[in-house]
Amino acid sequence: MNGSYNPWLVALSVLVAVCVSYTALNLASRVATAQRRYVRMWLAGGAFAMGVGIWSMHFIGMLALSLPIALSYSIPKTLVSLLVAILVSGFALAIASQRHSSLVRLAGGAVIMGLGIAAMHYSGMGAIRILPVITYEPVLLVTSVIIAIVASFAALWLFFRLRGGASWRILLQRMLASLVMGAAISGMHYTGMFASRFAPDSYCIGATATSSGWLALLIGGFALGVLLITMILLMYDAHLDSRSRQHAVALEDANARLRHLATHDSLTELPNRLLLDDRLSQAIAYAERRQGKVAVLVIDLDRFKMINDSLGHHGGDELLKEVASRLRTTLRKSDTLARTGGDEFVLIADEVAGQADVELLAQRVVACFVKPFHILSVDIHTAPSIGISMYPNDGSKAEELVVHADAAMYHSKKVGGGTFTFFTPSMNAFAQQRLELENGLRRALVNGELELHYQPKVDVTTGRISSTEALIRWRHPERGLVPPGDFIPLAEETGLILQIGEWVLREACRQARQWQVNGMAPMRVAINMSAQQFKQKNLVTVVRSALDNAGLEPGYLEIELTESAVMHNAAASAAILEELSRIGVHISIDDFGTGYSSLNYLRRFPLDKLKIDRAFIKDVVANPEDAAIVHAIIAMAHSLRLKVIAEGVETEQQLEFLRSLGCDQYQGFFCSPAVTPENFAEMMREKQVGKFDPLATMSRLYVPLKAPKTAT
Ligand code: C2E
Ligand code: MG
Ligand code: MG
Repeated sequence: MNGSYNPWLVALSVLVAVCVSYTALNLASRVATAQRRYVRMWLAGGAFAMGVGIWSMHFIGMLALSLPIALSYSIPKTLVSLLVAILVSGFALAIASQRHSSLVRLAGGAVIMGLGIAAMHYSGMGAIRILPVITYEPVLLVTSVIIAIVASFAALWLFFRLRGGASWRILLQRMLASLVMGAAISGMHYTGMFASRFAPDSYCIGATATSSGWLALLIGGFALGVLLITMILLMYDAHLDSRSRQHAVALEDANARLRHLATHDSLTELPNRLLLDDRLSQAIAYAERRQGKVAVLVIDLDRFKMINDSLGHHGGDELLKEVASRLRTTLRKSDTLARTGGDEFVLIADEVAGQADVELLAQRVVACFVKPFHILSVDIHTAPSIGISMYPNDGSKAEELVVHADAAMYHSKKVGGGTFTFFTPSMNAFAQQRLELENGLRRALVNGELELHYQPKVDVTTGRISSTEALIRWRHPERGLVPPGDFIPLAEETGLILQIGEWVLREACRQARQWQVNGMAPMRVAINMSAQQFKQKNLVTVVRSALDNAGLEPGYLEIELTESAVMHNAAASAAILEELSRIGVHISIDDFGTGYSSLNYLRRFPLDKLKIDRAFIKDVVANPEDAAIVHAIIAMAHSLRLKVIAEGVETEQQLEFLRSLGCDQYQGFFCSPAVTPENFAEMMREKQVGKFDPLATMSRLYVPLKAPKTAT
């Protein structure tokens, strides 16, 4: 019995085969690059779409054959063949999704796949309820299986070759490959059909003469629909992917800008103190290895304050720019010039031969100032006071060298300026002072001269205050209230910071609990933790014990760390932060924007909040560059689900601006400076009375014995 093929349906089946191939190629490249958690989803969905596609191609191909008798199909067997198609597709995608594959493995995969496709084809044929059963011409049968295997090999090989990006070339290559693969799949099918032999007097059980044309169109339409949906999903997914890639690039850009800003002076574009310390340490390390010498020149302008006052800020800035550009001309390639403060510059000259060499350099610097500076059409005369220290004679550490050069610079100033002085130990009154300070600080710890003052952290949208930062002060018997900037650096150098830090931690927890007991609405207290303290091995134990002793819920403690503290040993930090955050303690990054400013890196840590340094807030309203930075920090932090707080907010305009950017909290004199615990409590009481809020009053009357688990 012979049949004939309906050419339209044959064409439809080939079209479906090509579309299946195209979808499969795209799926394979997607699976290979998808994030791990989406791989399974793509594999399952992709296997279904491909399976339906291949199976319909096959079915349409069978319907394209019209025999003199009507055909009927066994539904269970037909479904089995569909299942086989889906399994084979899943298998193919799984192989194609591997990162690398050897030719041998590809060949093995191709054999299994080819046999699978053949199994699907022949189980599909087996679903025809025809008697006597169909027989096959052995040579053609084997040929069809070989075609299936070879086509599978070609397909897998193409999977691996063509899964790069999405440029038009790859698009074209994929289209061509789909044509080849589609032809191969159809080729296998029709070879298989040619292999089949129907007995002359065959008949089908329960066959009715339904129009096979309509059924074929229905199945074809369904299959193409499934493939189309798959392609749309793929394209949408690729779009999302490229969006997140763009995000990452923007993040990198902003980081680079932040880093530059953090390490350079914006007026003169010279390195700032941060970068200076880094360069000086490098120069020292280099000199140490080669037994070389390094000179540090601190250069301060004479009468700058007076000039600045008479010329105005703008004039002062212009002068500094001119000075910077003249100083640059005295430099050798390996020297570093930095601006470290208002009118103070520091020059590092490495690989100097000796004092005579440095003297020549200092003379060149003085000579730079002989010609007057022409600023705002006025001739300005100024001169430098220079202090010089040298490694290794005057110190072995960067900070020490700068301090000593500074002392020498004061000496130059004292003798009238316009000159340079080499450091001598007799100038080191500084060392004496430090020793006194250190002893005083030890005494302060014992005598209880340290106190914590509290500055509110305010919710930008509601104005509510639900947390506060504890800032240390030293009530010195003679000097009065000493700010932390005057003793924390020394405490860090001498290691006293560990004891001080622990005291701060315990005292802040105690105070937070005391306020609660006194009936104040629960307040989260933030403490500043220095890098050394954070590095301590038993930190988590100490924090736990402070909380337990005070009877404070961990959610009411916040720890502020600087980026450098966290980044120093990232792996160890991550472990400690994980543990703290598991207890329920909140963690913020303080002074963000002045250090590494690497959000990309920080996203690995379990953080709650970023605090934008007040240096960026100061001119945020007037300076577009600062505004852009603040904007970028807020947007990026939010995309990483971090809250953002701005410090140093002093005016309504600054607050308004921050509000427009969606900043979450602020801190600053605009609300209040840091005040004593008593004044803080008083302030909170006034707030509550001033704005009558029934709920707040309720909660004041019914003070829970144990604070609720989470504070807002
Ligand atoms: P910080 O953590 O960045 O603290 C913010 C500083 O900005 C505080 O200075 C605060 O008084 C000041 N400030 C607040 N609002 C404004 C404002 O509107 N305008 C301006 N110009 N400044 C404002 P403070 O108290 O002198 O603290 C200086 C630094 O000392 C702190 O910087 C922190 O790094 C360190 N520090 C303070 N207490 C401790 C402590 O207990 N332990 C450690 N390790 N460091 C501490
Ligand atoms: Mg702080
Ligand atoms: Mg800060």
